Amino acid sequence: MNETKFVSVAIDGPAGAGKSTIAKRLAAELGYLYVDTGAIYRTVGYHMSLMGIGPRDADGIRRCIDDVNIRIEHQADGLQHMILNGEDVTDRIRTPEMSKMASGVATQSCVRDYLLEMQRELAATHNVVMDGRDIGTVVLPNAQVKVYLTASAEVRAERRWRELTAKGENVRFEDVYTDVVKRDEQDMTRKIAPLKCADDAEVLDCSYLTIEQVVAEMKAIIRRKAG
Ligand code: C5P
Repeated sequence: MNETKFVSVAIDGPAGAGKSTIAKRLAAELGYLYVDTGAIYRTVGYHMSLMGIGPRDADGIRRCIDDVNIRIEHQADGLQHMILNGEDVTDRIRTPEMSKMASGVATQSCVRDYLLEMQRELAATHNVVMDGRDIGTVVLPNAQVKVYLTASAEVRAERRWRELTAKGENVRFEDVYTDVVKRDEQDMTRKIAPLKCADDAEVLDCSYLTIEQVVAEMKAIIRRKAG
């Protein structure tokens, strides 16, 4: 559990709300460690896909979870590198397919239990800005700062579509929109650690805000909550 010695900033919210962009910027400005927990779930999903295990194959996932050896490396390029069984898979987990795999494996309690300690350990040893779906509710319920960052589904899908298109992926906006909405539904309705706003979180709708405005707003919240 998070101890008071370090400050934890927990940012939760639906897919494409801009959590990682904002969290990365904030962490750099505050000198905190940025922890992208979605990348950890994506890495588990990637491992399962390599093993030929589908996102809904609970038995297969349970059987293979102990073979997953994940290391997080914060390298000089400022990126959080995901090392899976000794191999850097950072680039390979950023595909629409891995978004679906991540959301699928994330419904399994064996996966969530396995990753919980890893996330708590990081917060117990660093000042962190951690983003995900259940950070303020389950992973770090005692975080000093909790923000639920959201935006309309259309805005979020458009951001995702632009991101993928900029990377050269040939995807239709309608498909990205459908994926985002389906993934949110799966994340919000799953039995364990569903995506929801913590009772003590501040809600920030960034549909019509620039990145700079959101960062400024977040800094004001952090000043208010954590001094
Ligand atoms: O944030 P990102 O889109 O990379 O997350 C991928 C998936 O991982 C989410 O759709 C969600 O199902 C899962 N996830 C989660 N809990 C977290 C972070 C991500 O269940 N803390």
